[in-house]
Amino acid sequence: MRFLLAQFQQESNSFSPVSGTMSMFENNCLMTGEEILPYFAGTRTEMGGFIKALREINAEIIPSVAASSVSCGPVNDQVCEYVLSRIAEDIDRAGSVDCLLLCLHGAMLLESQWDGTGWFLERLRQGLKPGTLIACTLDFHANLTEKTLRNSDILVGYKTYPHIDLVETGYKAARIAVRTLRGECKPVMKMHKLPMILNSEASQTDSYPMNVMIKHANEVEEREDVISASVFQVQPWLNVKDTGCSCLVITDDSEDKAEDYSSELAGHFWELRHEFRFELTPVSYAIQKAIENKNSFPVIFADSADGTGSGSPGDSTAILSELLAGNRMLKTYLSVVDPETVVAAIETGIGNTGSFLIGGKIDRIHGKPVWVTGKVKTLSDGVFVLKGPQSTGKICDMGRTAVIQAGEIYIVVMENSVNNWDPALYRSLGLEPMDARIVVVKSPAAFRAAYADISQEACIVDTPGASSANLSSLPFDKVTRPMYPFDDFDYEVKPQTL
Ligand SMILES: [Zn+2]
Repeated sequence: MRFLLAQFQQESNSFSPVSGTMSMFENNCLMTGEEILPYFAGTRTEMGGFIKALREINAEIIPSVAASSVSCGPVNDQVCEYVLSRIAEDIDRAGSVDCLLLCLHGAMLLESQWDGTGWFLERLRQGLKPGTLIACTLDFHANLTEKTLRNSDILVGYKTYPHIDLVETGYKAARIAVRTLRGECKPVMKMHKLPMILNSEASQTDSYPMNVMIKHANEVEEREDVISASVFQVQPWLNVKDTGCSCLVITDDSEDKAEDYSSELAGHFWELRHEFRFELTPVSYAIQKAIENKNSFPVIFADSADGTGSGSPGDSTAILSELLAGNRMLKTYLSVVDPETVVAAIETGIGNTGSFLIGGKIDRIHGKPVWVTGKVKTLSDGVFVLKGPQSTGKICDMGRTAVIQAGEIYIVVMENSVNNWDPALYRSLGLEPMDARIVVVKSPAAFRAAYADISQEACIVDTPGASSANLSSLPFDKVTRPMYPFDDFDYEVKPQTL
């Protein structure tokens, strides 16, 4: 059996001002051919899971391309064409392949296509010999579409958020593909898509109510003839006509069961919709909470509205401005993406003080730059390794990075956007989160697992941004209505034909 392995992963946010350019991928992960296996083998990634499953059966592996970017706006078509051409060339060179094992996100937009994932799969399918299997892993935040379903054979989603089961998901998808090729099963997929979107802040799979949905999906998976059951909480910042949470069931050759079970899961999901509640904390209240905090650990401020893992640019100054305005002398760590200020800090030099116009230059809708007088404490190449349970071992590259100290506020200014949910980011710059009173992360929920040993005290702060949990604050004008939570309506869950 011959498997081609590829990764093309990006979560798009319709409201992000940042384009998914080739350099966004180069800054995160873009490799081809023989580089791939040594890089991913043994890692807790989907590719790591693919490789493990295929090596167990001594299958032939063709590593083609691995491209992933931090979340941002729609991906440039040029990047998609590059990935497609690499895969096509590798298939040509190999003569034929039995299966494409793809590691995707599932909520990728292209500049020219609102359904980027579906369109990518359709293009791939067109170039394949009939009978070639397409098996994919998808993020829990994938937006499943009809086109995605029509142009793939096996889709398996993560069952965790924060996402800590990547390797298991990859292994599972590969094993289903192997069994299918051996004739041991015949996957039939059905999804039920719901007219609802949910905030990520209240969708962690280890707590109510999402834990109930995952338990239900696991129960379905135990049933006779069921191969896989996935629940997708679609990332909510997709301003496209066909968005929504979905449930997907793969059975062994039973359309009826796949339809019934995916509808059963969707019905349960719909019933729970009002339970996904959480509170946003005004920044001033959150600061007061940090002032009153008598514990030895910090209060985590989750600036999820500027979440770099949710497509926002990471250059918000909302918290910084409030701290400066109130002259709050609490030891605070925060991060801002701002290449211009990095250059200014390098020119100023370590140990010297300067005035810097920080942040608010990329997202000009939700924030503005602020003047800060501070000392350049640290300059770094900005490379660090994630140590938390999500994406453990992943190398992150902030580009050139400076720490500017303004009183008790330590501002990490970086050239490239990276995920700020792991204490490794601050530690790589000599800033120990345990020593701070406020630590700002740019994440709705993934930080909870990574910061669990440091602090359980967290506020989702009410800041403006392209990934705001206050969905009504964003200009959703392309989404098919009615849509929960924007509209109050009844929805009858009955089997769909998808
Ligand atoms: Zn996700």
